[in-house]
Amino acid sequence: MTTLLFSSFQDPPELWLPALRAEMPDVEVRVDPEVGDPAEIDYALVYWPPKGLLASLPNLRAILSIAAGCDHILADPQLPAQLPIVRMVDDYLAAMMAEYAVYAVLHFHRDMDDYRAEQLQGVWNRRWPLYTPETDVGILGLGAIGADCAGKLLAMGFRVHGWSRSPKAIEGVICHAGEAGLLEMLGRCRYLVCVLPLTDETQGIVNARTLAAMPEGSYLINIARGGHVVDADLLAALDGGHIAGAFLDVFNDEPLPPEHPYWHHPKVWMTPHVAGELVPRSCAKAVAATIRRDQAGEPLLHLLDKERGY
Ligand code: NAP
Repeated sequence: MTTLLFSSFQDPPELWLPALRAEMPDVEVRVDPEVGDPAEIDYALVYWPPKGLLASLPNLRAILSIAAGCDHILADPQLPAQLPIVRMVDDYLAAMMAEYAVYAVLHFHRDMDDYRAEQLQGVWNRRWPLYTPETDVGILGLGAIGADCAGKLLAMGFRVHGWSRSPKAIEGVICHAGEAGLLEMLGRCRYLVCVLPLTDETQGIVNARTLAAMPEGSYLINIARGGHVVDADLLAALDGGHIAGAFLDVFNDEPLPPEHPYWHHPKVWMTPHVAGELVPRSCAKAVAATIRRDQAGEPLLHLLDKERGY
């Protein structure tokens, strides 16, 4: 019988097991640490697996990530080098991320911060909103999630830009690539949404230099990974007024330490890494599809490219 091992410190097995069993009644699902005979495990579905767990499974065929990013798997120094790693690509995850991006952009675009502050002071003060069709939103990353964000922001009527590693053509989106493309895009964007994977190349990409390239009074929305942002540089740009506000879902240290300046910063809105939840009933379909492909001898989709890091 095909056997899948589930291992995550945060995803509740009581939600995942029924969803996995509904999609794959013929697959036995075990929950770490109840591994049983390690030689019987064919697939591992993991989030931050205990170091060495994957190496202890001699007949493992593939590692399936319970996340779009695979940094939580690559962090294991004993990770077996030859095993394929399948990223979680799920339409509902992308839709949730796009929902968050649209919400955060609209929050700033429609001056909700100011209206709330004025409401609490009993002030009735009408503002003149910016003209949406002439307002530029830039998206760092045009993959599964970035493309969905772009589509939904386009539907809201914004002028949408996207930046990727390889040049892209997406209808309605002004596409940029490479270092020169990055600066060109940043120079036009009132709102910048980061949905890049965290790699050696993208670590710290939101820094003093790139923030300075954005127009005065622009906004950052980071829903990718905390490591994309150099916190000291963002705080300096917020305090200096060049960046007018930030909506942050992810942080260099999670949970964010209680003494971190973001907590009480008047220009920072934050959430505890919830922009895209892995909803078992939706993600279980992606897991089942991967196992079915492998069992049928078909090439796996959404493989992590270990060279590129995403
Ligand atoms: P993906 O499909 O692999 O897309 C990644 C995109 O980033 C691609 O367009 C890629 O360019 C671009 N990219 C990568 N390295 C680059 C570089 N050096 N320069 C320019 N562009 C670069 O990934 P995804 O599924 O959209 O997920 C993106 C990230 O979102 C994940 O890695 C994860 O960190 C984050 N995430 C966060 C949450 C949350 O709750 N906060 C939830 C889910 C995901 P190419 O198209 O040219 O390859």
